[in-house]
Amino acid sequence: MYAPAGVMTNHNEFPIPDRQRAWVLGGPGELVFTEKTVPVPRKAEVLVRIDAVAICATDLDVIYHGPPAMIEGGLPFNKNFTPGHEYMGTVVALGPGVDEYDIGTRVAVEIHAGCGQCKRCREGMYTSCHNYGLNYGDVDKGHRANGFTTDGGFGEYQVNNINTLVKIPDAMSDEEGTLVVTAGTAMYALTELGGLVAGESVCVTGPGPIGLMAVAVAKALGAQPVILTGTRDNRLQIGKELGADAVVNIRKTPDVVAEVKKLNGGKGVDYVVECSAASGAVNDAVHMVNRGGRVCLAAFPHEGDVPVDVAHIVRNNIYLYGIRGEGKSATHRAEAFMQQKRFDATKIHTHTFALDDLPTAIRYAKDRVEDAIKVVVKAKMDDVRKQAAE
Ligand SMILES: [Zn+2]
Ligand SMILES: [Zn+2]
Repeated sequence: MYAPAGVMTNHNEFPIPDRQRAWVLGGPGELVFTEKTVPVPRKAEVLVRIDAVAICATDLDVIYHGPPAMIEGGLPFNKNFTPGHEYMGTVVALGPGVDEYDIGTRVAVEIHAGCGQCKRCREGMYTSCHNYGLNYGDVDKGHRANGFTTDGGFGEYQVNNINTLVKIPDAMSDEEGTLVVTAGTAMYALTELGGLVAGESVCVTGPGPIGLMAVAVAKALGAQPVILTGTRDNRLQIGKELGADAVVNIRKTPDVVAEVKKLNGGKGVDYVVECSAASGAVNDAVHMVNRGGRVCLAAFPHEGDVPVDVAHIVRNNIYLYGIRGEGKSATHRAEAFMQQKRFDATKIHTHTFALDDLPTAIRYAKDRVEDAIKVVVKAKMDDVRKQAAE
């Protein structure tokens, strides 16, 4: 029975085994379902029973290529590392001195617990921690980014710093709970752009999960008009349902920049949130904004070496921001919108699989099988399935 010294548990209501089932990354693209010990929360940490975890494009980067994951200063392969970062669950054990959360509280979890001591962490920019990945040996600064620099959510239990927890209401489903971080990333993009977007025009480029949440959050913040561009009509339709005033299918539109300008009365928009990672997207974005406008790059492009009209940026006083993840407690603000049902994030959840079916879930996410957008994996579904088989 799991009973580490100084850790508070409630085995009657939330029994915790000593060992858990978890996926571990072998070589590139190689996941093995195995057993691991259940980790022990330290000071300012809790143990979370993972009830659901969503698959993100960045998980695919980690599993097939390695970065941005960094384990013990290097690539994450063959290090007994468990990926997965967009998870939610239930607090089931409290580390020494933790009184901020009760056992049984349902939580969404942010990915990054920065070191808490560097310049950026102290500014609330913990996703830009200067001690990223330094959490081992004699360079241990206590940094955690679950699924990137520490074990993540493709298992049954994980420890989390209390700073990464966001309480969610009982009315919110497990699946929706995994989307709090996705919406939080969109909220961080709009936060970094200035936050006050009521009445301002916003164009979101790329209707992936973050782009669709950017539409929803921008609309909830009062932006007008909100324009969404992309290549897939089904996703653009979901964008409309989440609040886009206009959508542009760039495959059917020869000049997307001109079209976006036209949709906003001939001038460019005030803000662009770039979520497509397409190679020409940055240059398009700086031409979509009006003079003095702002562009936030919220997608990790695979090719970073792309031509951008720098003279246009300078002449027009355009601001260009890059963001990492979901800093400045943006996740809490996103959750507040979701709790108040200001938008229905579940529109982007398309599939759920059992934890032991993770490879199928990854295939659905990677190849967009059946128009998959957000694919979720649940450990408890294994039990449901087992009962059905008996
Ligand atoms: Zn992610
Ligand atoms: Zn830091």
